[in-house]
Amino acid sequence: MNAREFEQTYGFEVFPKRDVTVVRGEGATLWDEYGKSYIDCTAGVGVANIGHANPQVAAAIATQSRKLITCPGVFYNDTRARLLEKLASVAPPGLQRAFLCNSGSESVEAAIKFARHTTGRSNFVCAMRGFHGRTLGALSATHKYRAEFEPLLDGFSFVPFNNGDKLVDAVSNDTAAVILELVQGEGGVRVADEEYVTAARQLCDRRGALLIVDEVQTGFCRTGRMFACEHFELQPDILCLAKGIAGGIPMGAVLCGEAVAAAVGMHGSTFGGNPLACAAALAAIDYMLENDLAAQAAHKGEHLANRLQQLRSDKVREVRHLGLMIGIELKGKAQPYLTDLMERGVLALLAGSTVIRLLPPLVISLEQLDAVADALVDVLGR
Ligand code: PMP
Repeated sequence: MNAREFEQTYGFEVFPKRDVTVVRGEGATLWDEYGKSYIDCTAGVGVANIGHANPQVAAAIATQSRKLITCPGVFYNDTRARLLEKLASVAPPGLQRAFLCNSGSESVEAAIKFARHTTGRSNFVCAMRGFHGRTLGALSATHKYRAEFEPLLDGFSFVPFNNGDKLVDAVSNDTAAVILELVQGEGGVRVADEEYVTAARQLCDRRGALLIVDEVQTGFCRTGRMFACEHFELQPDILCLAKGIAGGIPMGAVLCGEAVAAAVGMHGSTFGGNPLACAAALAAIDYMLENDLAAQAAHKGEHLANRLQQLRSDKVREVRHLGLMIGIELKGKAQPYLTDLMERGVLALLAGSTVIRLLPPLVISLEQLDAVADALVDVLGR
């Protein structure tokens, strides 16, 4: 049996699969089992910001793996300590404390618990089209994919994204937190309006609710800044992180200030903050800083978006982007174009049924981006 048949026989078919077996990566290039190369505009769904098989991260993992891989939270650890200091140094102001976990969903789970415990309230206001993960708490804050798993947690309500009036109506003195993405990723690459974000911050302050910002997808240079919060000069109470944090090794983090950190209550994780993931994250963040990946994402995002704005196609409704988080909203279904792009050597993502989403590694070259634009013109311009 080949890899495909093994997976079909022994795995879980929870995702619609693409007809390719990916065996190797380097930078923004992936190779299949036959040696065919692809320009990767998926980056493991926004994970490989620093590129596949990044040598600095690979070296850090190798070194740490020979020293210490696991170390429970009941002990201090030198590598974890250095990562916590590093996170505090890159975090938006006021978010100096971090709880380390293993995924985006887990970071949202923790944020929900922390917000309940800190405020003594149990209600959450979330955005339509928002996505926060598939575990039951994170799914309760997620607008889609929920129906077949109900009943979920009580107390979660949904308001239209970017509508300040509806938010005012929904947030009360019983609201523990408002949960927001600054660019909705799975929901179609929709960028928050500045006034909306400012209004949400002020409203939370007025009502004594916390503002949880989910930067699992937008964090770590993806949008042209270390965190998307910086575009909005926003100081959330709780910041959820994962995906790009450790160069592909599973890790999540919840950042918060002293007040929340002091009141979070009992929480924990066996793997959270393990030295192997911490070493990978330290190397990944150093790579981002040394290579100014945020500036690279801003510049390259502008380059690709400019090329796509010139795309004359009656199939395209709108191109949206912030940094290298790019959405091409079509007038019809996007799925068939992903297959066409793959045939032309470009791997891309969906966001909803009508949006082609591009999340390339931020180390992608301008030549590769031009090749992506050419493939899109070819596929959508026909
Ligand atoms: N929040 C956001 C904004 C995400 O984009 C995702 C993953 N797509 C998650 C949370 C969940 O992360 P994970 O799959 O690591 O649990």
